[in-house]
Amino acid sequence: MTHVERQQWDVVVVGAGGAGLRAAIEAREQGLRTAVICKSLFGKAHTVMAEGGIAASMGNVNSGDNWQVHFRDTMRGGKFLNHWRMAELHAKEAPDRVWELETWGALFDRTKDGKISQRNFGGHEYPRLAHVGDRTGLELIRTLQQKIVSLQQEDFKETGDYEAKLKVFQEVTVTRVLKDDSGKVSGVFCYERESGRFCVIEAPSVVLATGGIGKSFKVTSNSWEYTGDGHALALLAGASLINMEFVQFHPTGMVWPPSVKGILVTESVRGDGGVLRNSEGKRFMFDYIPDVFKEKYAQTEEEGDRWYKDPDNNRRPPELLPRDEVARAINSEVKAGRGSPHGGVFLDVSTRMPAEEIKRRLPSMHHQFKELADVDITAEAMEVGPTCHYVMGGVDVEPDTAAAVGVPGLFAAGEVAGGMHGSNRLGGNSLSDLLVFGRRAGLHAAKYAAELGDSRPVVNEDEIATASAEALRPFSAEPSDEDGARPPENPYTIHQELQQAMNDLVGIIRREPEMNEALQRLGELRGRARRAGVEGHRQFNPGWHLAIDLRNMLLVSECVARAARERTESRGGHTRDDFPGMDRDWRKSNLVCRLSDPSGGLAATDPERGQIRLEKREMPPIRPDLLDLFEKDELVKYLTDEELTAE
Ligand code: FAD
Repeated sequence: MTHVERQQWDVVVVGAGGAGLRAAIEAREQGLRTAVICKSLFGKAHTVMAEGGIAASMGNVNSGDNWQVHFRDTMRGGKFLNHWRMAELHAKEAPDRVWELETWGALFDRTKDGKISQRNFGGHEYPRLAHVGDRTGLELIRTLQQKIVSLQQEDFKETGDYEAKLKVFQEVTVTRVLKDDSGKVSGVFCYERESGRFCVIEAPSVVLATGGIGKSFKVTSNSWEYTGDGHALALLAGASLINMEFVQFHPTGMVWPPSVKGILVTESVRGDGGVLRNSEGKRFMFDYIPDVFKEKYAQTEEEGDRWYKDPDNNRRPPELLPRDEVARAINSEVKAGRGSPHGGVFLDVSTRMPAEEIKRRLPSMHHQFKELADVDITAEAMEVGPTCHYVMGGVDVEPDTAAAVGVPGLFAAGEVAGGMHGSNRLGGNSLSDLLVFGRRAGLHAAKYAAELGDSRPVVNEDEIATASAEALRPFSAEPSDEDGARPPENPYTIHQELQQAMNDLVGIIRREPEMNEALQRLGELRGRARRAGVEGHRQFNPGWHLAIDLRNMLLVSECVARAARERTESRGGHTRDDFPGMDRDWRKSNLVCRLSDPSGGLAATDPERGQIRLEKREMPPIRPDLLDLFEKDELVKYLTDEELTAE
């Protein structure tokens, strides 16, 4: 059998973005030996790309802000499909998590009186995003890494070994979560990307913090790492995913030149006064304010403009509607032939602020456009269009503990977890989510491992052999035709075809026949992916890595397509051309995705039926004291008559 290295730890955290690092810090602070595994270099997670800021109701810029207002905004943004308990915990705990970062050395931008500055963002009633220019994620990761180093220094003083209690395994990919015979988590199977060596890390608690799924779509703001690994690992371990039909298309990605299509243009540009115009020069967002938001947004350009100076006496401009609304509006303008030359619309901040202020407030955007598109945003408009950005769907977790439902020892936090953001995430609510639920996941993973004492689940040797064979399969792939004349399938070709299919058929606007076609194509691609082959050997072999990742992307894509076809309404990030309205009955339901084959195997699955089965599940009723935070007139738009009477 292929050699597999073994190590023992108490808690394994898969992912070193904001959620993973915060979880690891917590588990180590609880006294548990904690390993962090990440696919890329330490510090290079997605979180580092976050620009706009962290949402937390500290009330530094407008004292009217508090957790209740943040909770309300989050529920509205998610169109009341959020798990209310997660939204409550998030709104209550986010300010403490931001303060904690400062005590660990983060340096946020300040207000004139020295408080942490907070900026406006779509869907947030008050300026709420603590930020560091437009490089907030970098500061967040830097601070968490610094905290990890300081914990390692403490451990060195005590044990003479920096990595005695907290170790980072970088450029290592996890391909399976392992379980013992009773179904409890027993560790993970992984490979070193550089050497190709296999490794099993035995541990009773595994925290998934692997981020998103954007690389299944052609146009995306996400980087190469976001292949839905944690989502797939959870499914394969017997957990379920919820809300997978809700994928966020950020309204403003770059559209030109083609090589940078999809790269994010932060919402801070609009938060700081940027306006959207079509090719006729019209500020079109005023035509797209949906009824549910009519009372909260300015109806004229003059009022919208006044709001920047006097937010207490004016309503916010519709450029700051939640992302799903703005993305759909841009899509409609382009379709109606009023787009910019390269198929987007214009976003202009140059008329709002002096050049020096733009450079100070939006340094990365200034640099990005100058370097990549030769556009000077202090003097001209940017061309922007929707880009796949974030997945609201994810692992079905217990809100308080972040434990994955149904799999003892498995936890999930950050973008890989579902529930918190409902049908649409508000900007800034991800960084706070990472910290709030990363901490909770680390805490409960540590408690669970500690409570097991010496009776730890034992790794099943057959599972290791299966995981090892699965990882090696691309080296002995079958020919791609029956006669054996053609070489195995090329993983890059399959990936491109998958991205194209998801973009075209399960993208921003969805229709049943197209989703049927998508599922059909996914079935074919799944068959071909099983014959995806690579040449060479295991030492750094990107084709092999991609061949392994295809399994995950195909699984999550099927979840997205099946759930999107099933939900016959439009809500948040899920827009059905054939069911344009929001249906109050659907608000009560989550679509739960599970693997069709409960043993966690993939080979036995019928290619026609696919690998995923869906279940509809009732959402828990919203606690009455939380419902009391809303006006009845507003609740009527979301809740069924039954729910309203029960209240
Ligand atoms: P990530 O930061 O995505 O980290 C995932 C980790 O998992 C990585 O370390 C990766 O290597 C590892 N990993 C993945 N698969 C495996 C595997 N199989 N084995 C081992 N390791 C694995 N949100 C906000 O709130 N505010 C913002 O201003 C903001 N700006 C953004 C700007 C951009 C350009 C983008 C793309 C996103 C932005 N977001 C923002 C969203 C936010 O950054 C992400 O949702 C968030 O960072 C996800 O964090 P995470 O900890 O869940 O995962």
